[in-house]
Amino acid sequence: MSMAFPPSNPRSVGKSKRRILVAGGAGFLGTHLCMRLLCEGHFVICVDNFTTGQMKNLRYLLQFDTFSFVRHDVTEPLDLPVDEIYNLACPASPPHYQADPVHTLKTSMFGSLNLLELAVRYQARIFQASTSEVYGDPLMHPQAETYWGNVNPFGPRSCYDEGKRAAETLFHDFHNQYGTDIRIARIFNTYGPRMRPDDGRVVSNFVVQALRNEDITVYGDGSQTRSFCYVDDLIEGFHRLMYSPHVIHAPVNMGNPNEFTVRELAERVMDITGSSSRIVHRPLPVDDPRQRRPDITVAKRELGWEPRVVLDDGLKATIAFFERQLMKPAEELAE
Ligand code: NAD
Ligand code: UDP
Repeated sequence: MSMAFPPSNPRSVGKSKRRILVAGGAGFLGTHLCMRLLCEGHFVICVDNFTTGQMKNLRYLLQFDTFSFVRHDVTEPLDLPVDEIYNLACPASPPHYQADPVHTLKTSMFGSLNLLELAVRYQARIFQASTSEVYGDPLMHPQAETYWGNVNPFGPRSCYDEGKRAAETLFHDFHNQYGTDIRIARIFNTYGPRMRPDDGRVVSNFVVQALRNEDITVYGDGSQTRSFCYVDDLIEGFHRLMYSPHVIHAPVNMGNPNEFTVRELAERVMDITGSSSRIVHRPLPVDDPRQRRPDITVAKRELGWEPRVVLDDGLKATIAFFERQLMKPAEELAE
């Protein structure tokens, strides 16, 4: 695939049109982020190894001649002249990140290290997609950035949680040691169009099950809580964090503070779809956090950011997307 990036020194590009690397750009959030940056007129280069990303997500993006794609695993070093880097590379859904836990940990640690070294080489600003999982099964509710978390370092979720914690530490140390210009978003559960039907996270599972009139699989008794953020709100948050005149180098929570039980989510999805599915219970996964709600005081105060899309509206848009997806032939879905 040809490179749309001009090969010369990145600092020759005007400030308004920048060269932006999005690692993990073929995934759910990455596709939305690339689209936003392309629409603003930037050169975007997506680096992805397709662990969970999809080529079909890139079809929309390849319509821009300012978009290019490199198939690459971020655990290996890379050298591309860039002005900015977004590190979204890492499988985010528990079944996917637990399928190859060693590689998940390597992705967060070596991937972050390689991208931070690239940031140093080109003096690029770098953004890390961190996660609410750094709080583990929290003993403080809601979770503020000052909370250090309650993470099991020796369990099935540890490869993801500890990898993301180690990545935050690397970002912190590159900032302190080399003056790297960092931004870190601690993202809480986010959903929306362009998730994979087989992603495995709760919103896509319930929507797909409801649309197929299959059993809705509630893990445990469904009383555990999550706060669900619609993807457009989150991407706006990324944008404000990255480009705000008020620079924040510390981690910032990004999520929707409205909290729902998993059972409530199942009921809402069933109401909106009019599905004839029934709720069935499956065992609660090991170390499944009991509750999650972001304290977004910092994002509100420093960035003027808060989510705007209520759950029902976000679910309607997501359901409409999956309805169109599920009408497609099986071989197109599998791409
Ligand atoms: P996703 O699984 O859809 O996307 C991850 C992308 O990273 C995929 O395209 C995948 O192929 C790519 N990738 C994985 N390992 C890689 C590697 N070693 N080299 C190159 N590419 C690699 O997940 P998402 O929901 O889009 O999440 C994006 C980022 O945001 C992740 O880092 C995730 O940890 C973080 N995050 C997401 C959420 C959420 O609710 N969506 C919550 C917290 C954090
Ligand atoms: N969950 C569920 N049924 C599913 C998928 C997930 O009940 O089909 C539950 C899961 O046990 C957790 C919550 O929904 O309590 C959110 O799970 P998800 O995998 O979306 O994200 P995470 O656990 O990482 O927050």
